[in-house]
Amino acid sequence: MKSYEELLERLYKELPEKAKEKARFKMPQFEVIIQGNTTIITNFVDVAEKLRRDPKHLLKYLTKESGAAANIDRKRLLMKGRFREKALNKKLEAYIREFVLCKECGKPDTTIITQDKIQYLRCEACGARSPIPTLK
Ligand SMILES: [Zn+2]
Repeated sequence: MKSYEELLERLYKELPEKAKEKARFKMPQFEVIIQGNTTIITNFVDVAEKLRRDPKHLLKYLTKESGAAANIDRKRLLMKGRFREKALNKKLEAYIREFVLCKECGKPDTTIITQDKIQYLRCEACGARSPIPTLK
């Protein structure tokens, strides 16, 4: 009689590779609180690190998309104005799709490289390289 763990392990091994990869990557979510007229993303730097992106890059994206002034304060992001958690997480998801997930294989194991003033997303899993917009 096999143990439950052994059974689980066997089932997991039989999963197609793609399903395993999907299970491995969980989209991170911002945790947001609003104080007066300031929106605070309490886990901002943690999210950027999970995505292996420079927090300043993610900051540029968010300020461009929301039109709000924002600055990083230790692990948090302080934004002028009131923003809903749901709306901010939608922007985060759009960022992940554009600047983190590989355009070819969809995996998150990517880095941003610059060549001839053009930025590319380079995938460590499949080797694909796709140009991405430069954030100013
Ligand atoms: Zn790839």
